[in-house]
Amino acid sequence: MNHDDLVKWSARAADWARDYHAHLRDRPVRPTVTPGSIRAALPQTAPETAEPMEAIFADFEALVPDAMTHWQHPRFFAYFPANASPASMLAEQLANAIGAQCMLWQTSPAATEIEERMVQWLRAALGLPEGFTGTIHDSATTATLCAVLTMRERALDWHGLTQGLSGQPRLRIYASAQTHSSVDKAVRLAGIGQENLVKIAVRDDLSMDPAALAAAIRNDRAAGFLPGGVVFCTGGTSVGAFDDIAASLPVAQAEGLYTHVDAAWAGSAMICAEFRPLWAGAEACDSIVFNPHKWLGVQFDCAVQFLRDPSPQIRTMGLRPDYLETLENTGITDFNEWTVPLGRRFRALKLWFVLRAYGLEGLRARLRNHVAWVGELAERVAGIEGLELVTEPQLALFTFAHRDGDAATEALIQAVNADGRVYLTQTRHEGRFVIRMTAGSFDCTRDDVMMVETVLREVLG
Ligand SMILES: *Cc1c(COP(=O)(O)O)cnc(C)c1O
Repeated sequence: MNHDDLVKWSARAADWARDYHAHLRDRPVRPTVTPGSIRAALPQTAPETAEPMEAIFADFEALVPDAMTHWQHPRFFAYFPANASPASMLAEQLANAIGAQCMLWQTSPAATEIEERMVQWLRAALGLPEGFTGTIHDSATTATLCAVLTMRERALDWHGLTQGLSGQPRLRIYASAQTHSSVDKAVRLAGIGQENLVKIAVRDDLSMDPAALAAAIRNDRAAGFLPGGVVFCTGGTSVGAFDDIAASLPVAQAEGLYTHVDAAWAGSAMICAEFRPLWAGAEACDSIVFNPHKWLGVQFDCAVQFLRDPSPQIRTMGLRPDYLETLENTGITDFNEWTVPLGRRFRALKLWFVLRAYGLEGLRARLRNHVAWVGELAERVAGIEGLELVTEPQLALFTFAHRDGDAATEALIQAVNADGRVYLTQTRHEGRFVIRMTAGSFDCTRDDVMMVETVLREVLG
């Protein structure tokens, strides 16, 4: 296959993509495949000789679409959305065509500078103060790992990087139990250890208790531990918990701790001014991550981390061997020094395309619709005999359960997902098995959201 063939097949792929999206509503959101069946349909070894693209494309059509969970399905209400607008898909095609490694300014001047400008656009769009800069990572997990590593090294005066952790004081990181497991992963991978992630008690509204945070830090210092930082939760994955950052931040600041906000899902909503009270205080934190690839229509992967001062993170993550030195240039940014991998994709391009193709007003309108429709659905679900809300809507997420208990709730979600018209996932809240409902697909309509009520009523009989 050469570049002339690529022109032909790109057109085929574009036609295929249009048909795929046009008929998504007719497909079950989740496929019915038995584990191992796709693997078994593939040859045991790679071909020795070239195969025609006709055959490859035909196999793609025969094998793949029916064996995928359709994340762009307008009735995908599971996990959190990973919505992909057409403009972001187009930008990805162009980034793929260029195929650059965006590790240094020199290896990708336009990618680096568009990334800088997109971070600036988003900072303003989310209502964060001037002064924040930032970078684009693959995922919120990576951004949070970078923040936790920075907490570690800042607390150790950057000795951990050179001397390792043995012989250093025992570090402590603080977060509520509502924060995402990526925080647990980060403390594990950072060599801090799960036992040194102190889960702070929450108040009735599921926000971190500032008095409990202060007491934990005080006790840890008395015990000879070294507090390093606090991770705040803005829109927890389980039920959408929000820390009261403004209430807890002064505790962290009085102790000189580094602060990171995980707003992976809910951060996108902050393009609407009316939702910003939910993260009041974030504007004074050191680091904030949110995923435009969740709710803003920017195709996976795209996680934006804002930094009040990038230097502690660059000092932690940056490493410049001779072969990565850039000669004769100053005033440039080498974004690999802000993150874990050296090689980086050109992710800023899809942000640029999406923000321009829909405009902030177009994106706000979608988010506001999702929130309003989910709120309306919550009332309807609460009105179904035998069901009750367990947690109230937080932006576009609520949870509910069967009044007859966990077994009935589990049977209900299995029946709903077997039906196929909608897809929901579950979590545990205060020991109880509950069903999560969240909407955010780019093309989802009010009717799509209300379909959840229809399906629930039908399967409950
Ligand atoms: C989805 C999510 C994450 C993890 O996001 P990745 O980008 O997949 O690493 C972290 N925190 C919260 C609150 C999330 O919702």
